[in-house]
Amino acid sequence: MTISENLNKLKNELPKNITLVAVSKTRPITDLMEAYNAGQRIFGENKVQEMESKWQEMPKDVEWHMIGHVQRNKVKYMAPFVSLIHAVDSLKLLKEINKEARKNERVIQCLLQIKIAKEDSKFGMDEEDAVNLLSSEVYKNLKNIEVVGFMGMATFTEDEEQISKEFQKLKNIFDEFKTRSNDFGTELRVLSMGMSGDFRLAIDHGSNMVRIGSAIFGERNY
Ligand SMILES: *Cc1c(COP(=O)(O)O)cnc(C)c1O
Repeated sequence: MTISENLNKLKNELPKNITLVAVSKTRPITDLMEAYNAGQRIFGENKVQEMESKWQEMPKDVEWHMIGHVQRNKVKYMAPFVSLIHAVDSLKLLKEINKEARKNERVIQCLLQIKIAKEDSKFGMDEEDAVNLLSSEVYKNLKNIEVVGFMGMATFTEDEEQISKEFQKLKNIFDEFKTRSNDFGTELRVLSMGMSGDFRLAIDHGSNMVRIGSAIFGERNY
């Protein structure tokens, strides 16, 4: 199947309230343009410099999402254009994003990455870290960023029960935080979970943003 066929099939399947991020990491511009010409406007990349060079080449109405781990010294390269940063996992990183956003006279939307997988991943915060961050005075004074939700990745496994449990855990945390929007001075509305292999389960468990690469562009050969 072609990229546009894959996209159309996905779009027919996804409920209307689900935002589709087409994960185009490692793909050439011709592939991105095929998706663009089929109507896709939101693309996700996991390397800042690759995203920046694709931003230069692609039409200007594309929304760019950074879905990978971000090093603080790379933030400046995407601050002029990035529309959502999915994997923020420290106040230090948020402060850096705020600083670069201010230089560009922008407010950059961010998600906190919450650790839900069983496997020992280096990245992501636990629930308590997230409470502490969002309740801190420092966070409240960052005027050029806005935390709008959470991102999570389930364990890489065939065990659907395990995956469901992890997605449900993040949904519960998300709902809990939503009831505390006033304490945090921020309205959480985005729950980014689900990839090619597990997006249906993620949607069943309350995701409203899915990050899909190989089901659109084909298998990656890293
Ligand atoms: C690569 C990647 C995806 C997409 O993975 P597929 O299995 O190709 O759909 C989603 N999220 C993150 C964080 C990724 O790095």
